[in-house]
Amino acid sequence: MKLSKRIQEIKPSPTLAITMKANAMKAAGHDVIGFGAGEPDFDTPRYIKEAAVKAIEEGFTKYTPVAGIDELKDAIIDKLARDQGIKYNRSEICVSCGAKHTLYNLAQVLFEEGDEVIIPSPYWVSYIDIVKLAGATPVVVPTKEEEGFRLSPSSLLAAISERTKGIIINSPSNPTGSVYSREELKGLAEILVKSDLVVISDDIYEKILYDGLKFSSIAQVHPAMKEKTVIVNGVSKAYAMTGWRIGYAAGPEWIIQAVTKLQSQNTSNPTSIAQKAAVAALQGDQGEVEKMVQEFERRRNYICEALNSVPGFRCPKPQGAFYVFPNVEGVFGWAPKGRVINNSSDLAGYLLDEVGVAVVPGADFGDDRYLRFSYATSIDLIEKGVARIKQALS
Ligand SMILES: *Cc1c(COP(=O)(O)O)cnc(C)c1O
Repeated sequence: MKLSKRIQEIKPSPTLAITMKANAMKAAGHDVIGFGAGEPDFDTPRYIKEAAVKAIEEGFTKYTPVAGIDELKDAIIDKLARDQGIKYNRSEICVSCGAKHTLYNLAQVLFEEGDEVIIPSPYWVSYIDIVKLAGATPVVVPTKEEEGFRLSPSSLLAAISERTKGIIINSPSNPTGSVYSREELKGLAEILVKSDLVVISDDIYEKILYDGLKFSSIAQVHPAMKEKTVIVNGVSKAYAMTGWRIGYAAGPEWIIQAVTKLQSQNTSNPTSIAQKAAVAALQGDQGEVEKMVQEFERRRNYICEALNSVPGFRCPKPQGAFYVFPNVEGVFGWAPKGRVINNSSDLAGYLLDEVGVAVVPGADFGDDRYLRFSYATSIDLIEKGVARIKQALS
């Protein structure tokens, strides 16, 4: 007996692995400060939970249509019209068990052996493995810190070959927090509309933006982009609903119908109760989201300043999401407590073992010169965590 080649070629999600290791250390009595988590630390807002309780009490606990209930599709359609100014029909929406599931389904229906998929780096850890699971080849295109970790039109053009089938754009970005402006997206769109690529636009951090910035999705910056783009979004990050597992795709009907067919043979519908909660999230008072974003902004300002005061660290100020991605090359070659640090994994391992600070090595996101810190944690813990890092490196 043996496992398939397919599963042997991928790795477990490193962010989940770090979080699990930190939690296990905590459970064993160690004092660990976690900057690994990829989820808001806030509770799901009350009005959303109440909608779920109501759904349970009303017996809304059976199978629903595979692609989601009409009520939720309509709430998503309203949201996309309101926020992106794009009109979709119900047949262009498929709701899945989280945006990760949406991305997985999309890769399965769009990509296969011999296809190339462009992924700008630093990238979200799962893109690579999701593309590989479809048998396709991820083509990683590095971006530069000096260019705000944003893909330039010239590097996009240089990366397109006759095998390129798609590209994944993620703005605001996990892990860098960088955000593309409307003009920058237009620059990419002008190349993409002349190509035969499918664009997957992962807009999951759309609501988590700072400095008064306005969000644009690449789907909305050029009239021809709607037909080439699948918007991926969900309720996990904006509404602190990671455990509810609701994500969705909005895009051309031929792709959405293929995703729905695939989903009918794997999960069927996403949870009925969570769908009702997602309707409440999208249609309810968006003031709760604003409050969370204000708190994230306060923490971003704090953690950037704190990390810039760590010797050997340089922390750019991100404009969205809830991560910072400091450059830590300045520490390479050091040997605090006799332990040589030559890369991001050495440093992350040292910080966890030595002072109980959990961070994710940049190597997992495609750039070994950085660390990723999530600031979905209190200012108090950020202060303590950074003090420990200084102590570990002194
Ligand atoms: C968290 C995250 C997702 C997945 O979110 P779900 O909880 O599966 O809806 C997708 N893309 C990025 C970049 C993320 O950080």
